[in-house]
Amino acid sequence: AAPARDRLRIAIQKSGRLAEPARALLSSCGMSWRESRDRLFCYGETLPVDLLLVRDDDIPGLIADGVCDLGIVGRNVLLEQDGDRRGNGRVPSFREWRALGFGGCRLALAVPESCDWRSPSQLAGRRIATSYPALLSQWLEREGIAAEVVVLLGSVEIAPRLGQADAVCDLVSSGATLTANQLKPVETLLESEAVLAGPVAPFDDVRGELADLLLRRLDGALRIRH
Ligand code: ATP
Ligand code: ZN
Repeated sequence: AAPARDRLRIAIQKSGRLAEPARALLSSCGMSWRESRDRLFCYGETLPVDLLLVRDDDIPGLIADGVCDLGIVGRNVLLEQDGDRRGNGRVPSFREWRALGFGGCRLALAVPESCDWRSPSQLAGRRIATSYPALLSQWLEREGIAAEVVVLLGSVEIAPRLGQADAVCDLVSSGATLTANQLKPVETLLESEAVLAGPVAPFDDVRGELADLLLRRLDGALRIRH
């Protein structure tokens, strides 16, 4: 078993859409930090709660490995990595603890504007580009459609123009990126927002009390916001 720890470690995005709102929310819970020179670590001053500043994609794995106790990450990233792990026969080791009300977007299926969209069955035998292969595959399976999933790590929206795919499955907020690429959203696979992620099993040391305190303050802060 991992050694008992007396400080709570929360992973948040180092830079990007969730970085500032995540810190602002934690600050509103009465915490402040001293930042390390390399900007990797923030040492909690008011509470024994430290921050690790990382790529958002690393956050579920850091929780699964016990390197971090909690994390703030998009539900899309959390569920994609959960689906990927389950697909590889691994037991889930992290889950959503709270929805945080920022970073809202949806994972949508989009097709060329010229396409006459009637139903998902039109995707049979087609190629769909995405950075979310596990979530897309789950949806295709539920819909009973056999399509080819083309995994791209970036610039998913240009794949149809390049002739690399017939449709895309990507995150959408305003829809401007889709429009700029002559695509239109036709199905929503997931409604997403930033979430507090934590382990499936509760902490069995002083971190449990710290997590309870954090959750109480977080729930208070979230109530005031909404
Ligand atoms: P990192 O460098 O940490 O890997 P990233 O480029 O993968 O960053 P961001 O673009 O900062 O990530 O997005 C982080 C999260 O913000 C997404 O996973 C998603 O949950 C949320 N989000 C909200 N709106 C959008 C949007 N329009 N496009 C992409 N992500 C969005
Ligand atoms: Zn990322």
